[in-house]
Amino acid sequence: MSIGARCGSCARELLLGQLLQSSDGFRCPFCGFAFAPAYATVAPGVAARVMAAQAALVTALAELGSMTGDRLRLDRTTILDPIANTLPEAETKQPALAREHRARWWARDAAAQPTQTISHR
Ligand SMILES: [Zn+2]
Repeated sequence: MSIGARCGSCARELLLGQLLQSSDGFRCPFCGFAFAPAYATVAPGVAARVMAAQAALVTALAELGSMTGDRLRLDRTTILDPIANTLPEAETKQPALAREHRARWWARDAAAQPTQTISHR
């Protein structure tokens, strides 16, 4: 199980697992951008906790699910929302960068669906 991330400077994709070596200084492996400038020594440990917590949660949910089956249905939103709410939208932190990303997404959508504009006419 891996957690994907994107550099706030060069916008390249990486994995959280690539940042666990404290000797690397919690920096972008591509451009060297410091992800947690004041916390370079502790951030790798916190990242490791995030990954371990995700794995533990997934394992426990699967285990409980195998015991209960359809007799107990956990509310997905009450499990996922508290996690999703800790992850701010890109535009709230880096307006310029988010705009750039959105432009790329639009471009990608347009390229992927060339017939979309025609079908609307
Ligand atoms: Zn980078």
